[in-house]
Amino acid sequence: MSKNELTYPGGKLRLYVEAPLAAGTRVVPDEQQSHYLLNVMRARLGDRVSLFNGRDGEWSARVVDKSKRACALACERVVAEQSAVPDVWLCFAPIKRTPADYVVQKATELGVGVLQPVVTRRTIVSRVNLARMRANAIEASEQSGRMSIPDTCAPLTFDELLATWPTERRLIFCDEVGAAPPMAQALVAEREQPFAILTGPEGGFERTERAALHAHPFVVPVSLGPRILRADTAALAALAIWQSVRGDWH
Ligand code: SAH
Repeated sequence: MSKNELTYPGGKLRLYVEAPLAAGTRVVPDEQQSHYLLNVMRARLGDRVSLFNGRDGEWSARVVDKSKRACALACERVVAEQSAVPDVWLCFAPIKRTPADYVVQKATELGVGVLQPVVTRRTIVSRVNLARMRANAIEASEQSGRMSIPDTCAPLTFDELLATWPTERRLIFCDEVGAAPPMAQALVAEREQPFAILTGPEGGFERTERAALHAHPFVVPVSLGPRILRADTAALAALAIWQSVRGDWH
């Protein structure tokens, strides 16, 4: 860490902003970020933070103006080029609040590109707090060093998901019931193409939902082993397998 660089136990402080980033650009963080900088991190004039917006790379920016409740940062230099995460979506049946926050944070660390909640027949939670989902995704992106944040989408019903599916994208269906092949083995057999992962709710998929999935050629049923995993465990295990076989964990 160089002098004046604001750090916290997780490492250097990185903030996601919407604003364009370029040499000399002044960025005024939002109220929550300003509060964090001024009151939690006790930022002083001249201190430095890293800013990224998912488009212009990561910039080192200096605190150039501060009052009791607001501050302004001036971009000085690029510290990391813009890069993308591999193109993988996670379609998941939302589960009770805490685990859903957990899934969003962990899937973001695991490099997911799109988080798509799906309301299936046995999904207990049908309302999703989108603002909370996005805040969790941003925080995990800041902490994990990602250069972009995942898209956090409004929930779709199971039928809407299949009816509007982009058929050039394979849908990896984590099926705890069928005799599907192990996920890593199924993935190796697939040609180069976009992928998504689908996991069900605590109560699993209904027979009619399972039949509908097996009827679509873009669906790839897979097993995640002999034990029944909790919905959040399954989503993260599947993402880890995808990243190691098809993603950027090489
Ligand atoms: N039907 C299960 C509960 C569903 S587990 C039960 O009998 O208790 C929640 C979701 O995680 C499932 O819908 C499935 O998508 C995924 N899952 C859990 N274990 C799995 C496994 N061994 N293989 C594939 N998917 C699994």
